[in-house]
This record gives sequence, structure tokens and C-alpha cells, in this order.
Amino acid sequence: MERLIEGHKRFRKELFPERRHQFHLLAESQAPEWLFITCSDSRIVPDLILGTGPGDLFISRNAGNVVPITANDVDGTTATIEYAVEVLKVPYAILCGHSDCGAMKAALDRKNLEHLPKASRWLRHVEAAFSHRQPLNAEDGEHAELASLIRGNVVAQWLNLKAQPAVSHALAHGTISVYAWYYDILTGRIEQYDEHFRRFLPLLDR
Ligand SMILES: [Zn+2]
Repeated sequence: MERLIEGHKRFRKELFPERRHQFHLLAESQAPEWLFITCSDSRIVPDLILGTGPGDLFISRNAGNVVPITANDVDGTTATIEYAVEVLKVPYAILCGHSDCGAMKAALDRKNLEHLPKASRWLRHVEAAFSHRQPLNAEDGEHAELASLIRGNVVAQWLNLKAQPAVSHALAHGTISVYAWYYDILTGRIEQYDEHFRRFLPLLDR
């Protein structure tokens, strides 16, 4: 815990005073532009890879960047999506998966998760990834099969996101754009799913 206490001390002493004005503006309201749904994985630091900061991203994270579609049920992710779209009226929503995802490794290896009753139930939500697998990419090397499944999961969860009642309503009214991303931890690159070409393309020109 010592590391966190020290980090917070530094924040209070150095960073907060520098950005006091920004924090004061944000103290009583927020108007984020982006709903960002990603995995809980500690290696994804959205503000770091996107150059964003306080007040920018409305974030929902869970193991496997899942958007559950179970009817007549509620969970943290879908409630967060509803709030972001209906109340905050975010103009953009991004579903972001990542390389080396533990949740997807477990799905691919068909690991026995009997000792993890909650996780094994949760990971049923990623089964749809298998029917959306993406072509193998030589750049992924020995992890190509896993990466193809992870990209498939991004597509599956992106479709689930677009099917959420609040999102599909906003899409019909042209008030939201919904993107699907794959973030590669090793290279720091982001790929975006191109609906027209039905494949992932680099977000930036190389
Ligand atoms: Zn993950």
C-alpha cells in the first residue's frame, strides 16, 4: 500500500495544484465525449494510450470487455451503457479488446474453471467470439490463433453493444457512432474494425 500512499501524496502536492482549475470545473458535472468499454486488464491504461484526462472517458471495464445480452437481466456494464447514452448523451462509444487477453485465453484453451464459478459463468458471454473469428495475421506470430479469437470477441461484443436498446435507439437517430478496437500491448498499436471491409485496419498509417 505504501506505493499508493506515496503516489497520492505526489498527486496532492504536484499534479492537483497544476490542474486545480480543471478539477474545479469538473467538480459538479461531467460531459464525457466517449463511452469506453474495455477489459479489466492492468496493462490497458486508456488515458495514457489516448492522451485523455479527467472528464474525457466514461469507462466500463470487465474481464473480457463483455457486453452481456441476457434478456431480462441487469449488470454493471449494460446499466453503465444506458446511463452514458441516455443521460450523458455520449456521441461516441468504443469497445476495445486487447492482445494476450486472459479471459480469451481461458475460452480458447477451454480451461476447466470449476474453481471459479463466477468467472466461468461470466465467460459464457464470450462464446460468440468463436463465430466471429478474424483471419490469422502473421504479425501476431505464435499468438495468431488467440489474436484472431480476441478480434472475434471484439466484433461480437461490439454487435452486442450496438444491440443495447439505448444504443440502437441512438444509432437510429444518428446521435452516436460505435467503434470496435483491438489494442496490441506489445506494439502499442490500435486497430479499428472496418464494417465495410469486415476486417481490422490500423487506426493510424504506419
Ligand atoms: Zn483482457
